[in-house]
Amino acid sequence: MEDPTPNRLRGRVLAPRDDAARFDLIPDALLEISAEGRFVRVVPAPPGCSVPETHPGAVLLPGFVDTHVHFPQTRVLGSATGPLLDWLARTVFAEESRFAERTYAEAVARDFCGALIAQGTTCAAIYGSSHPEATDALFAELDRRGLRGFAGLTLMDRGAPAEVLMPGPWALEACRALVDRWHGHDGGRLQFAVTPRFALSCTSELMRGAGRLAQERGLLIQTHLSENRAEIEATHDAFPECSDYLAVYERHGLCGERSIFGHAIWLSEGEWVRLAARNAAVAHCPDSNFFLGSGLMPLRKAVDRGVRVGLGTDVGAGRTFSLRRVAARAYDVALLRDAPVSPEALLWHATLGGARALGIADRVGRLAPGYDADVVAIDVPDHAGDLFDALLFRDDHGPARAAYVRGRRLV
Ligand SMILES: [Zn+2]
Repeated sequence: MEDPTPNRLRGRVLAPRDDAARFDLIPDALLEISAEGRFVRVVPAPPGCSVPETHPGAVLLPGFVDTHVHFPQTRVLGSATGPLLDWLARTVFAEESRFAERTYAEAVARDFCGALIAQGTTCAAIYGSSHPEATDALFAELDRRGLRGFAGLTLMDRGAPAEVLMPGPWALEACRALVDRWHGHDGGRLQFAVTPRFALSCTSELMRGAGRLAQERGLLIQTHLSENRAEIEATHDAFPECSDYLAVYERHGLCGERSIFGHAIWLSEGEWVRLAARNAAVAHCPDSNFFLGSGLMPLRKAVDRGVRVGLGTDVGAGRTFSLRRVAARAYDVALLRDAPVSPEALLWHATLGGARALGIADRVGRLAPGYDADVVAIDVPDHAGDLFDALLFRDDHGPARAAYVRGRRLV
C-alpha cells in the first residue's frame, strides 16, 4: 500500500517562479520532505536514482488554491436561475437556510471537502454558512480531511430571508467564538476569515464591526465587489454617501492588504487605482461570471497595476470545483477582452498567485526548500503537445491523481 506520508516524491515537476508568473520545468525531480511536511530539497533526480517515480505519467505542481468558493452552495452548483440577484433570491437563500441544521451541514461538508480534494485543491478561501454551527462543522471537516483553508461565517443582517440573517452583534459574537476555536489551528493550516457577504446584505453597523474584528485579530477579509450591473446600482442606492462601490468597503474598514474581493468586473479607473494603492487582492471567478452573465473581468489590467489576483471557482455560481477549468475560462475572458494571458500565467495564478492573494505565499505555493509540501499530481497523456495547454484545456479531464498537504496524502 502507498505510504500516506512519503518523505520523498519523484516525478516531472512544474515549480512556480517567484520573480514572474512562470514555472521552471524539472523533467525528473526528487522532492525530499521533512517529518513536519516541509520541503528539504528539490533537485533533479541523480543518475541511477533508486526512488521509483511516485505517480508515473503525472506532473507534480503545488496544490491548487481556490480563492473564492461557497460551502453552502455545494448542492445547488449549476442551477440556471441567474443573473446574480435573481439567482440569490430563487436558489441560493433557500438552500443556505437548510444549514440551520448541523447534520445537514455535516453531510454537505463531507461532499464539499471531497470535491476539493478530487480536483487537487489543497487550500481554499471559503464562504461558510450564515449559521455558526454549520460553519463550525465545515472547519471540523476541513481539519479531519487535512485540507488547508480560510473560512468564515457569512455575515448578513438585511436584504435576505430571515432564515439566513443574524443580527450583527450576535453574528460578531459567534465569529469571535469561531476565531478562538479555529483561527491558527494546526500551525496555521486553518484560519478564520471575516466574511461580510456583500454590502447589500450588511448594515453599516455590521460592516464596521466586521472591519474592527479583522483589525483586532489580524484576519483575512473576503467579500464581493462589483460583480453585476444591477447589484452595483442597488449598492449606490443603499449607500448614497459613498462615491462608488469600493468606497463602501473603504468607509467601513474593510479594504486593505488583508482583503480579497471576489469578481471586480466593473470597477472604474479610480477604483482600480485605490485598490492597488491599498494592496488589496482580487479573486477572479470567470466560470461563475459566464454562468451568471456578469461580465468579463479585466485580468491584465489588474496584473499590470500590481494587484494580486487568485482564481476562484465561486461554486455554486461556478459550475466546477476544478481550478483547471476555471483557468481555461480565464483564458477565454482575456481573449474576449483583447488582452490575452498565457496558459502558463493562468496556472501560476491558480497556485502561487492564489497563495499571494491570500497572504500565505511565505509558506505555500512553491516547490522549494522551506515551503510546506502541498502538492498535486495531474495526469498528462503521453501524446500531449504543450504541457500547459494539456493541463488547462482538456475539459474532459478526470480528477487529480493525488493531492498532499504538508506531505500528507488527502483522501
Ligand atoms: Zn461568490
